[in-house]
Amino acid sequence: MDPQPPGETLLQILADIGDCKRCRLHEGRNKLVFGVGNERAPLVFVGEGPGADEDEQGIPFVGRAGQLLTQMIENTAKKEGIPLQRADVYICNVVKCRPPGNRTPEPDEMEMCGQFLYRQILAIRPKALCALGGTAARALLGHKEGVTKMRGKWFQWKDIPVMVTYHPSYLLRPYNQDAKREAWEDLKKVLHYVYD
Ligand code: URA
Repeated sequence: MDPQPPGETLLQILADIGDCKRCRLHEGRNKLVFGVGNERAPLVFVGEGPGADEDEQGIPFVGRAGQLLTQMIENTAKKEGIPLQRADVYICNVVKCRPPGNRTPEPDEMEMCGQFLYRQILAIRPKALCALGGTAARALLGHKEGVTKMRGKWFQWKDIPVMVTYHPSYLLRPYNQDAKREAWEDLKKVLHYVYD
């Protein structure tokens, strides 16, 4: 990527979000879930929005789906000979507050919170992004196509390559074992692109 002048930091963005009441999602939240990981990460994972565990702890991807994501990152990296821990990447979501009952975020909620996602990405300036599931893919790429069609291919957000893959929650369902294999392939591609 071309060098860019230093912009704002994640801390400044977090301060700007503050005790956010910009959309209705704040009404049901316990903790706002901003993001976690390395501010200088060359790879950023983008999920949909916090679930119950994340809402309680204020950290993205700490529940069952999060544990699977951590395993996927660390085991795939290890297998591929890439020394990488979850803490080396950055992980965040399209919306920062838990949608009631884990429903999909509404377009207006995504639009309001999406500005902070974009600013987070611009602050980190990663080498690549990995969109986990349809909501993240829509927020970054605006596509209405399903993940099954988009996964495994490179797209772009501004000048940053974006790989779309399945959301880990989807992979937890027992009948989605083929998708699990595909998600592993997608992740391998991303890891080699970023870390080779
Ligand atoms: N699902 C998401 O999309 N994000 C999280 O942080 C947890 C589960």
